[in-house]
Amino acid sequence: MQPVNFRSFRSKLAHHRKSFRQFLNKTEKNTPKGIDQLTPVLAKEVWAEVDCLSCANCCKKMTPTFTEKDLKRISAHFKQTPEEFKKQWLKKDSNKDLVNKTQPCQFLNLEDNKCSIYAIRPEDCSGFPHLTKRKWEEYAYIHKQNIDYCPATFRLVEKMMEKVSV
Ligand code: SF4
Ligand code: SF4
Repeated sequence: MQPVNFRSFRSKLAHHRKSFRQFLNKTEKNTPKGIDQLTPVLAKEVWAEVDCLSCANCCKKMTPTFTEKDLKRISAHFKQTPEEFKKQWLKKDSNKDLVNKTQPCQFLNLEDNKCSIYAIRPEDCSGFPHLTKRKWEEYAYIHKQNIDYCPATFRLVEKMMEKVSV
């Protein structure tokens, strides 16, 4: 597993973002056969390469969505009511989803990139970046957003482009 090299990530993103987005647009509209079988295989390769603890870019630059269940669990941990927790840390975004008010996330330890509420973190965090969550055609629009921040998503799309021609 390699530490994430942000200089290389940013440079590759600057050069390839457009072609990656075109690939995602094309595969979203006209999904190549076999792509859903290939995704978990490539995702496994990605996780053998990418060390999230050297990155934490999702915790620094993005926000999870908090479900009501997350809210109850995490607020109870801090001996707060869900309302108190919400008032202190969260806001509603344009989709009316509950998200962090600020970035980096208040629960990120910036010294070691570890989550201070790891065991009870939001479900969205535990599955992020959801490489195999849904069928490719249903999730390509999220990959399109996440390639800008997440080296693991970027690598998945890069690997898929090497395997699948559109
Ligand atoms: S709750 Fe933890 S895993 Fe989720 S964004 Fe915050 S620091 Fe990262
Ligand atoms: S999920 Fe993506 S953005 Fe988050 S730490 Fe891992 S590689 Fe970085």
